[in-house]
Amino acid sequence: MTTHVTRFAPSPTGRLHLGNARTALFSWLLARGSGGRFVLRVEDTDRERCDEAHVQAQLEDLRWLGIDWDEGPDVGGPHGPYRQTERGEQYRVDYNRLLASGLAYPCFCSDDELAAERRAQRLAGRPPRYSGRCARLALDEVERRLAAGEAAALRFRVPTGVEITFDDAVRGAQRFLSDDIGDFVIRRRDGGPAFFFGNAVDDADMAISLVVRGEDHLANTPRQLLLQQALERPEPGYAHISLIVGEDGSPLSKRHGSFSLHDLREAGFLPLAVANYLARLGHACERHDLLDLPTLAQHFQLDRLSRSPARHDEAQLLHWQRLAVAAADWPALWAWMGPAVHRLVPDSDAEAFVAAVRENLLLPQDGLAWAQTVYSDPLPIDSATRDALTVEAGDFFLHALRALAVHGTDFAALAKQTGQEAEVRGKALYRPLRLALTGREHGPDMGALLPLITVERARRRLEAWASAR
Ligand code: GLU
Repeated sequence: MTTHVTRFAPSPTGRLHLGNARTALFSWLLARGSGGRFVLRVEDTDRERCDEAHVQAQLEDLRWLGIDWDEGPDVGGPHGPYRQTERGEQYRVDYNRLLASGLAYPCFCSDDELAAERRAQRLAGRPPRYSGRCARLALDEVERRLAAGEAAALRFRVPTGVEITFDDAVRGAQRFLSDDIGDFVIRRRDGGPAFFFGNAVDDADMAISLVVRGEDHLANTPRQLLLQQALERPEPGYAHISLIVGEDGSPLSKRHGSFSLHDLREAGFLPLAVANYLARLGHACERHDLLDLPTLAQHFQLDRLSRSPARHDEAQLLHWQRLAVAAADWPALWAWMGPAVHRLVPDSDAEAFVAAVRENLLLPQDGLAWAQTVYSDPLPIDSATRDALTVEAGDFFLHALRALAVHGTDFAALAKQTGQEAEVRGKALYRPLRLALTGREHGPDMGALLPLITVERARRRLEAWASAR
């Protein structure tokens, strides 16, 4: 089996969305499943949009999902630094190499000139591409302008007539022509590395063997391969994964709702649910049960990744959430339900409360609703419940009250005696008892709920119904 060294290279411009999280998870699963290494690199060269708060928030989101890294900005490692803004020294060496071999040249074109050039090309029906104006400047002119302090970007001189091919692990054989690629900027006029450059050089320097990223980066790859070849660096393999689309087939965006990892966490999704969901999004996993992350890694296969768009499916996410809730132990669920529930439920009831309601939970707010049901006194009765019970005879609840006085919170015994005295059974017995005691048609096993409701509250609830007849 191939050992994969993978990386995740987010730009800290905001929270991680579901697509980023999936890329990170796939990369991590491939590294962990093959006994490889997983590197975290922060691509923070866009100083206006990136900031430290976003870096920290992204790391926190990844940790929450269960992803760890062998090398990264916080843990260090042999290929650091792991923030691109700190890698100026490394980049300088490569710029100089490319300059010395004539494979890079300073470009003095202003933004306005470049925009005018692109406009003219568009009008002429040609694809916008750098004309190569500065590629042909005489050496003494270049030196004179640099000496005069004129700002210059650095461009890579793309070879002519070259075919660039690679075998994408997801999308198969790829072929590009260098003549379709204009000379591109590798160092911006402000001195910062351009994306193509920093990304390609870092992958080589960090000994990444497989780059897993969204297919929106596919068209960048030939430029990056050209750079790696020019610098005589090893080329990583590439796996361009399909993008996540919304249920309407368009790329997942804010329009489809909030899909940052943080939003899902705030909504109460469990990390294991999100990880299991993502690991099946565009990946035909041979296992269909809830798996912990190490086991997911064992069953994650590069050749089972799909080329078609991965459709976000809320129902699937909820399916995994249901399984993750079922698998969680009670202290975890108790913590997950949060302070609103902790205020209502006495600590001494915590374990029994979780046990009683866990099958009826999907999100923490469900826990809150059940806590209100159990602990509210009096229990508010909505008109729908009142209407639902109008067919019941008032005596029914008098029988139930007598049974409660005898049997306490033993629901089976209470129901049995009530049924005998009121001469009802089945639904005609259990439905009014549940409605009166919980205000709801359906819910957890009454045998588990009634001890939490307690005899006192149960009596007041039944009395309210007895007198409402
Ligand atoms: N910083 C880039 C992004 O967030 C990384 C692209 C890549 O993974 O190569 O899109």
